[in-house]
Amino acid sequence: MQTSTTADLSAGYTVGVDVGGTKTATILLDAAGHVVAHDRTPTRKGATSVAADAAQAVDRVLAEAGVPRAALAGVGIGVPGVVDPGPGSVANAVNLGIGGRVPLADLVAERLGDGVAVRLENDLNAAVLGAAHHLAESGEGPVDDLAFVALGTGLAAGIMLDGRLRRGPHQAAGEIGHLQYVPDGLPCKCGQAGCLERYASGSAIDALWPSRTGRPAPVELFEAAAAGDGVARRVRDEFVAAVAAAVRVLVLTCDVGRIVIGGGVSQLGEPLLRALVAELDRRAASSPFLRAADLPGRVRLAPVGVPVGAVGAALVGRGGI
Ligand SMILES: [Zn+2]
Repeated sequence: MQTSTTADLSAGYTVGVDVGGTKTATILLDAAGHVVAHDRTPTRKGATSVAADAAQAVDRVLAEAGVPRAALAGVGIGVPGVVDPGPGSVANAVNLGIGGRVPLADLVAERLGDGVAVRLENDLNAAVLGAAHHLAESGEGPVDDLAFVALGTGLAAGIMLDGRLRRGPHQAAGEIGHLQYVPDGLPCKCGQAGCLERYASGSAIDALWPSRTGRPAPVELFEAAAAGDGVARRVRDEFVAAVAAAVRVLVLTCDVGRIVIGGGVSQLGEPLLRALVAELDRRAASSPFLRAADLPGRVRLAPVGVPVGAVGAALVGRGGI
């Protein structure tokens, strides 16, 4: 990551703010699509705090890079919740302490002043934009069909098809965590039973293999499984099979060319990718149909150290998405 010390006033800088349940990541993107400043703070709950903190983070990254407000072409904000990007409002962002519908883009724009354009997007939609940008910059060429799978407390995906976000009329696109995976299975907070996210998520691992040493439960589980613990192997394999089901659903419904696995559990890194690819290969071994679809070849881990959600939010800030 580079940090510029002089600002090109003609360039269109945009700021991306990724407001997560516990942390808010903010980056400044230059016109060439490079991150030139970044910031990370704990998230405070409530619409007023979220808006105030976002506006302050915008000023901090501008100051860090020595870029004046006049060079700012726009701000994009990614939030978990049901976002209406037109008016820039969000509802049901329970992780942020936002219940009813809130005009969050306007709240941030009021604090920034100077007529700065602020746009709002769902956090997973922002993440899939950021992941596509990263893959393109990494030499994978233009990526138009992509899913970003957030494997965290729950399970959901952001989907880009033909270069456009798939939001859907009820913003339900990508809610694969609530597809039924096990008939009459574990109850889910959505009111159904046997939902995929009860088996393919960080919470699923926490329930079956709670952390014993304070390190992330998925790390402890995979280490115990690798060391030969029989119970750990079974828990790990069932978890990986459920993640593989998520990959299958995305490929067989949308034929997305790439699937980027992100979210907290993806910090497992290569052990997760190896296990997932092995499970997808195992399934393909008995199915010429699956083999032809090359699911293992489509899976990537979210890049380490690249805040794809914030980068995607900055791309949203450019407008036209
Ligand atoms: Zn559910």
